[in-house]
Amino acid sequence: MRLSRYFLPVLKETPSEAQIVSHRLMLRAGMIKQASAGIYSWLPLGFKVLKRIEQIVHEEQQRVGHIPMLMPTLQSADLWKESGRYDAYGPEMLRIRDRQDRDMLYGPTNEELITDIFRSHVGSYKDLPLTLYHIQWKFRDEIRPRFGVMRGREFLMKDGYNFDLTKEDALHAYNRHLVSYLRTYERMGLQAIPMRADSGPIGGDDTHEFLVLAETGESEVFYDSQITDLKFGDREIDHDDHAACAAVLEEFTSRYARTDETHDEAIFSQVPEDRRRTARGIEVGQIFYFGTKYSEPMGATVQGPDGKPVPVHMGSHGIGVSRLLGAIIEASHDDRGIIWPEGVTPFHAGIVNLKQGDAEADAACEALYDALKALGLDPLYDDTKGGAGAKFATMDLIGLPWRITVGPRGLKNGVVELTSRRTGESEEMPPEQAVERIAQVYAGIL
Ligand code: ATP
Ligand code: MG
Repeated sequence: MRLSRYFLPVLKETPSEAQIVSHRLMLRAGMIKQASAGIYSWLPLGFKVLKRIEQIVHEEQQRVGHIPMLMPTLQSADLWKESGRYDAYGPEMLRIRDRQDRDMLYGPTNEELITDIFRSHVGSYKDLPLTLYHIQWKFRDEIRPRFGVMRGREFLMKDGYNFDLTKEDALHAYNRHLVSYLRTYERMGLQAIPMRADSGPIGGDDTHEFLVLAETGESEVFYDSQITDLKFGDREIDHDDHAACAAVLEEFTSRYARTDETHDEAIFSQVPEDRRRTARGIEVGQIFYFGTKYSEPMGATVQGPDGKPVPVHMGSHGIGVSRLLGAIIEASHDDRGIIWPEGVTPFHAGIVNLKQGDAEADAACEALYDALKALGLDPLYDDTKGGAGAKFATMDLIGLPWRITVGPRGLKNGVVELTSRRTGESEEMPPEQAVERIAQVYAGIL
């Protein structure tokens, strides 16, 4: 993309309504614009990151065998009356009446809808196990929408639902989700720690939340510091292997890590004192096993091996796709702006032309731009007439991990400058070598 043709409405002033750094930076970098309280338009740069995050979520879901689909945002109240949650959910649910006077709602989550699809189409235990998911907008009329996309009213969530014949199979699905989530977050450059949590209105017994540690997080968390040494890395785990998935769960959840809802001071005090940590965290996902809570009242049964109908065991699993943008920025920024991890960056590299209009500089930039694109990368070429200082400030603000700076002086010596946004280190090298270095960085990521 050429900056001269792009729509990047960066702000010079720090917006006063934004209380936390990720919200400020998203507004300043022209990523989002508030449409009304807790509801945002996704401007091109924000939309690009949102799509990158969505793509990682899709890939990691499908890697473990989950099946993508799409359910609507607007739902009929009837199913929710059947499950008993229409009254139970409270004022967070946006209730709407259509012209036929039917009660509708903007879905805050989809257990009812998916259970209805299941009971209509699945009849035999032979069709199990089954895990369906979608990435769809949700609406929760949060009492205090704030912090930008972090606590919106309309927000994008991946929610998945597993259907299993036995509790044991459903617990395997739970473990498999934990494995898949660990990989998902690491690909986004995040450390998200699974913590024992409370199930809230979804219900159920087993549940973990995934928390990214950040001072601005809304949850208070308590954990054994050893947990932050754990890395999922590039292990290959067979998603059908119950024991392998259970071992990962054991490894990542055996140390003390809880949100304030489930925190138990007596147990926590058994952790050696120098490892006890109290901090704040951002919830970026949650997994639940809730057994037959929905399948029983809604008649989601299958014919078991003995021919008798049995209610299926279920779980649900959510990732806060739009909240993740805020969480990643909270975890990765400096006083000049965002520092995108390579896995989610909107553009893979920026090209800054220090002397737009200079035939040699223009030609060198064009060549770099074409070379990066030929490698399947997505560069942003600042081909505007602005001064160097302003161009660098914009690149730093929008946080592209790599910048190639091209100017007549360097070109005389046959070099351009490659700068890492994260370390701030710059190195001069021939243009081909800069392209090669960037290609290497992304080879393991894309
Ligand atoms: P919270 O406790 O933060 O209100 P929740 O536990 O009610 O969230 P879940 O039902 O577990 O949310 O939804 C799955 C994920 O969706 C959450 O882990 C979170 O990342 C995201 N999410 C939930 N509410 C919001 C919101 N208002 N704005 C943005 N993302 C949200
Ligand atoms: Mg939750």
